[in-house]
Amino acid sequence: MKTALVTGGSRGIGAAVCRALAREGYRVFINYNTTDPKALAAEIGGTAVKCDVRDSDQVRGMFGKIGSVDVLVNNAGIAQQKLFTDITDSDWLDMRATHLDGTFFCCREALRSMIRSHSGSIINISSMWGQTGGSCEVHYSAVKAGIIGLTKALAKEVAPSGVRVNCIAPGIIETDMLSGFTAEELSDLRAEVPLGRLGSAEDIADAVVFLASEKASYITGQVLAVNGGVVI
Ligand code: NAP
Repeated sequence: MKTALVTGGSRGIGAAVCRALAREGYRVFINYNTTDPKALAAEIGGTAVKCDVRDSDQVRGMFGKIGSVDVLVNNAGIAQQKLFTDITDSDWLDMRATHLDGTFFCCREALRSMIRSHSGSIINISSMWGQTGGSCEVHYSAVKAGIIGLTKALAKEVAPSGVRVNCIAPGIIETDMLSGFTAEELSDLRAEVPLGRLGSAEDIADAVVFLASEKASYITGQVLAVNGGVVI
């Protein structure tokens, strides 16, 4: 049975990815930091693994427990809207640690066995703001752009070792991450989407399943935009 680790699998996009991979027959490890996904683990027959991806020792410990994985989805994330001049050192460092350090640490651990077995697929969750830049989200946009750079460089390096590395750049997806927006703001955002609706966590999960599958066996180093046409 193939195995998959989804970071930040307890809620939102990560939880939908866990469900979708389980439906595809994967044994799924559901990483979380604070929200224990007991119910989700029971529902999909998966295993919850607590680990703060910002901490390299904890990431090493997590891989020590779960062993090798066939698919790694780097999804754990936080968001924050602030004027650039209001971003504090700790806002900046936390944004960087959660998204970039976390992705780097998890890729490094997962690749040890992927390179040995000459197979594996890594899928990093970026954002359309990493492609275009988002006002009042400069720190978020910067780390999401960093994830695109990491994906492309790593894809080139490990392709000869049989490992694929791709990236998904979601648009505006209805999860807890949008809880800071009012109903009116959400309606304004919806009006800007050419396909006429906000995205669902399942829209991203479907893209992950595709990139993880054999149907994507000739695809590496790519950024798959799942955004309803907002960025084309
Ligand atoms: P969400 O509903 O807020 O869920 C965030 C997930 O990340 C939770 O499972 C959370 O776990 C986990 N997490 C946060 N910090 C962590 C840490 N230090 N270690 C381990 N896990 C951690 O957000 P979402 O909307 O599903 O976002 C998932 C990913 O998609 C993020 O990378 C986000 O940037 C990206 N994205 C989202 C949107 C959107 O519109 N929603 C758009 C573009 C990109 P706990 O519950 O345990 O804290």
